[in-house]
Amino acid sequence: MSKFSSYNFTGQKALIRVDFNVPLDKQTFAITDDTRMHATIPTIKKILNDGGSVILMSHLGRPKEGPEEKYSLKHLLTHLGELLDGAEVQFADDCIGEQAIQKAAALQPGKVLLLENLRFYKQEEKGDEAFAEKLAGLGDVYVNDAFGTAHRAHASTAVIAKFFSKEKRMFGLLMENEVASAEKVLYKSENPFTAIIGGAKVSDKILILENLLERATDIIIGGGMAYTFFKAQGGRIGNSLCEEDRLETASQILQKAEEKNVCIHLPPDSIIADKFDAAANISGSPSDNIPGGWMGLDIGPNACEQFCNVIKKSKTILWNGPMGVFEMLKFQHGTKAIAAAVASATQSGAFSLVGGGDSVAAVNQFGFADEVSYVSTGGGAMLEYFEGKILPGIAAINE
Ligand code: AMP
Repeated sequence: MSKFSSYNFTGQKALIRVDFNVPLDKQTFAITDDTRMHATIPTIKKILNDGGSVILMSHLGRPKEGPEEKYSLKHLLTHLGELLDGAEVQFADDCIGEQAIQKAAALQPGKVLLLENLRFYKQEEKGDEAFAEKLAGLGDVYVNDAFGTAHRAHASTAVIAKFFSKEKRMFGLLMENEVASAEKVLYKSENPFTAIIGGAKVSDKILILENLLERATDIIIGGGMAYTFFKAQGGRIGNSLCEEDRLETASQILQKAEEKNVCIHLPPDSIIADKFDAAANISGSPSDNIPGGWMGLDIGPNACEQFCNVIKKSKTILWNGPMGVFEMLKFQHGTKAIAAAVASATQSGAFSLVGGGDSVAAVNQFGFADEVSYVSTGGGAMLEYFEGKILPGIAAINE
């Protein structure tokens, strides 16, 4: 059993760093997507069921100078109560002030207190020690369940941990799952291990590609970034996305892959369009011979077949980034086909992790989220993890 699951929270005040950075309607402040709140409810419930109390702290948005109404966490109170089966949720209009201290001190077992936005204080993002110590004073145990901010060395995500003994600082259930899934892919993968990397830019994915060259057996490269690789090999790519200043990097990645016996799969054909538009004229083309004035906006049918065959033989799969402009109907077939292949490989026993903003949006949009092994809630954090970086939020608990 994990540290969190075996911990008895009876009579303890658990200070939980959650990621309640949810999108709000600009006029009504209604929550438009509560996924991040949902994700941490099991952690909160376990503590309450044990007979502990819960103090929740989070950031919301990017406030510039102190408190701003549109970034107040009070907008989340009613919905949080509903997610907790009608439990009363108290609110402190400051995270370290007198009200927070008094309400935290008076909190009874089974009760929940939500603190105001941590980023109303500049000290949060600066990782200020005194600020972290004040927050730490509110609880008996520190639980980090905010994987989405684990790559930030902020006061509430990393610095705070040292004010709790090793037994009294731990990951929550969401964070445990995220870390276990990421570790399984990166350090305990079963071969063949296929990484599917897509999206717009090579420059965003260089570090992850380099780290994966050390671990994967196969790397599928799709999306806009593939065309920089074709150009680097002397191909004609028309008006497709290309980062001229990354041609050399692309060549080096291909060379390194050869040296390390990692098989790189680029899409042999593309769906091309005469403009970047949902109503564009479309055609098919070899990816390395795209006519002038046209651009590749999705992988073609041969690429789909080839990629799906590789995926279906895999035992470990990591997917980050779409294969095309999946937001437009005409260019979503490739991403959809890959999602279906990942789901099918999962059903045949592969472990599959989808991480990073747009591929997560794609599996959700195409209805495959429940058919893969794990969908990460942390875009930037997961990307940095797969770049091989140490995430401060994880290190602070483990130290
Ligand atoms: P990223 O955030 O780097 O993972 O990129 C995701 C974005 O890349 C999505 O908005 C896609 O529409 C876009 N994208 C994927 N393939 C292409 C392509 N062939 N040309 C232009 N944009 C693309």
